[in-house]
Amino acid sequence: MRSVNLNNKTIFISESVIELFEIFKQNNTKDNESGGVLIGQVKADNIYILKASTPNKFDKSSRYSFECDKDAAQIVMDFEFYNSNNKSIYIGEWHTHPENHPTPSRKDIKMIKNQFKKNKLNEPLLILIIQGTERLYVGLYDGNKIAFKIL
Ligand SMILES: [Zn+2]
Repeated sequence: MRSVNLNNKTIFISESVIELFEIFKQNNTKDNESGGVLIGQVKADNIYILKASTPNKFDKSSRYSFECDKDAAQIVMDFEFYNSNNKSIYIGEWHTHPENHPTPSRKDIKMIKNQFKKNKLNEPLLILIIQGTERLYVGLYDGNKIAFKIL
């Protein structure tokens, strides 16, 4: 479990999720970006990232871009919601970057803002995680701005 404090919230990332990000690191020059959705729970000021979905064949992926297929992601989220007694919800997005020190692209920022607008969020926040080849970017969008740390 890793924790990050952002904007008076504490984000807890489960060990299994950290391990999953590690697996998809773009360590080879031919590796494409990978990604998926983040699933978790929010209790007061604590945000728990419990699961991350893995890439599927409907996603669009290249060396420098990743676009998560929303219909496929919805199926995963419905499954997780049902199997957690309606506790686990969509909490954000993750993907990899082929750079040591990952920072979101303009497209990434636009994507997270669109997701915020588009989804009927139970909690007015979304997490954006980018796994670089070395470090991990963790951002928290509250509908206004993105607070972030690079671990
Ligand atoms: Zn990106």
